[in-house]
Amino acid sequence: MSSKSAKKVGHPLSELLRVPAGPVDLARFDPAATPGYPGEGKSDSAEETEALGAELSDLQEVLYADGRSEPETASRVLVVLQGMDTSGKGGVIRHAIGLVDPQGTQLRAFKAPTAEERAHDFLWRIRQALPGPGMIGIFDRSHYEDVLVVRVESLVPEAEWSRRYAQINEFEAELVAGGTRVIKCMLNVSFEEQRRRLAERLAHPSKYWKYNPADVDARLKWPAYQEAYAAALELCNTVDAPWHVIPSDHKWYRNWAVAELLRETLAGMNLQWPPAEFDVATEQARVEAS
Ligand code: AMP
Ligand code: MG
Repeated sequence: MSSKSAKKVGHPLSELLRVPAGPVDLARFDPAATPGYPGEGKSDSAEETEALGAELSDLQEVLYADGRSEPETASRVLVVLQGMDTSGKGGVIRHAIGLVDPQGTQLRAFKAPTAEERAHDFLWRIRQALPGPGMIGIFDRSHYEDVLVVRVESLVPEAEWSRRYAQINEFEAELVAGGTRVIKCMLNVSFEEQRRRLAERLAHPSKYWKYNPADVDARLKWPAYQEAYAAALELCNTVDAPWHVIPSDHKWYRNWAVAELLRETLAGMNLQWPPAEFDVATEQARVEAS
């Protein structure tokens, strides 16, 4: 463990990265920016993130303890990760979510729906993957694919996908009302940086497994994806479940930023250690005498 404690961020990062209400123009979000980062840059980012990890991990333990003792009323957290291929959803899971005890996390990656999943409403598989009491759920892709790839590829008629924004808002409002904090992160990587990362995957056999020829097909539809993202960020940017755009051209900033958003969320939940369900003095005496 680091002896250093995390430097304070001037403004809450959630405010700095939050998408303002109203029409969204993604071109106005700089993928290489590093807003709110309290250190020097890449050189001290490992140290900063580790320092953050200590606090994050303590907070997560209280959340988890509460979930074990009061499952009916315990809070939950859901981190929704969206972004184009190579934006770093996997990197965030490893380096930011990886700072907390894996026993308290529930990870779910959403791929193209199976035949069974397609037979149900698009939120069916999402509802089944929601975090339990005291847990931090992480969605690697999410219900937003149903208004992203589905919209770009016309996988269902427009009349159907266009209704989904309101359905998503209603679903998320319900989640929040039930005690789940929802942290929505769009990992914003630039077109140029995506090309570099795809080229890197082809440069070494140890990276081939990360490369999927279909990623280039999606890349060729970049403007259509930007438009679909802008629509999701605008239409599903609610007070209860706002969107954050995470500049993701710098991996070190991206990982730090998601960890800090999670820390701020947990810190703002006013979590308390659950009281003992036994008489402490009696138990102390029993242990002493044993
Ligand atoms: P990856 O996350 O790179 O392993 O890829 C998962 C793939 O599943 C991506 O191409 C997504 O676009 C696709 N996918 C995820 N959710 C959906 C969905 N609801 N409908 C169609 N494709 C999806
Ligand atoms: Mg991929």
